[in-house]
Amino acid sequence: MDYKLILEEIAAEIEPLRQVGRQADYIPALAKVNPDRFGICITTTDGEVIEWGDVTERFSIQSVTKVFSLSMSLSLMGESLWKRVGKEPSGAAFNSLIQLELDRGIPRNPFINAGAIVLADVLISTLDNPEKDYLSFVRSIASDSTIGYDYEVATSERAKGYINAAIANMLKYYGNLDNDIEDVLHFYFLQCSVEMSCRQLSKAFLPFADRSTAFSFDGISLTSSQVKRINAVMQTCGFYNDAGEYSYLVGLPGKSGVGGGIGAVYPGRYAVATWSPRLNEKGNSVMGMKALELLTTHTNESIF
Ligand code: GLN
Repeated sequence: MDYKLILEEIAAEIEPLRQVGRQADYIPALAKVNPDRFGICITTTDGEVIEWGDVTERFSIQSVTKVFSLSMSLSLMGESLWKRVGKEPSGAAFNSLIQLELDRGIPRNPFINAGAIVLADVLISTLDNPEKDYLSFVRSIASDSTIGYDYEVATSERAKGYINAAIANMLKYYGNLDNDIEDVLHFYFLQCSVEMSCRQLSKAFLPFADRSTAFSFDGISLTSSQVKRINAVMQTCGFYNDAGEYSYLVGLPGKSGVGGGIGAVYPGRYAVATWSPRLNEKGNSVMGMKALELLTTHTNESIF
């Protein structure tokens, strides 16, 4: 498969979308990012890297981070994790408060905000030094010690994070947060603020594509079956109320974030990351989703 040529074709095809959609501005620091960026990077299971566009510029990975927090939480808690968070697609906005109330404080899945806030609580209760341990796991899975938090993004999100604060309060009311609300929100926003480039993100997603090598990073281990199941949750829940559309068009387990990044995997073959800050109304990158749709269409490679 000539991925290089295919990426060039895709880049030409999606160019007309460069100014379609709006970047997230409810997190003030994200409104400062140049929205007209696009990058895509494929890392194959045999170590080849094929890329196009803005692949080295770092962006805020936002909700893509939830794949890493789920990996850590599942490794530390095993199946008991699912008592505190479900694994059903939400069919609702990523920050829905009304659904959490109807579900009486058990978030529908770990990839909506409520679910990831529960994961942050789980990690605070189980890790010795949550901020440090989280970052060292992410650095280890990406094999890159330069990856870090963007404290400006995290502080700016906390300053305006009214809905996430409401979600945390509701979780606490229903008895599904053990730690102090402020501590949990602080850690959750830090996780979302992790900065990576497309090149780094595709590398960090490779262990989810390659189940022939043991998943073991910085003391966090998952069985091949657990990795497969994280892919299943990505497939059904990774794009919130766009998950059906994403599955229909793309057909690869993936996770998006409001920073405009997407990480996805073609199991057994490659991990891919895209970045373009302009989002559709569900909070998913317009150019990124289209690029992945064209990738699986042109290659005729998808999980289906
Ligand atoms: N930090 C963002 C929030 O909590 C993450 C949301 C997202 O990327 N979809 O609102």
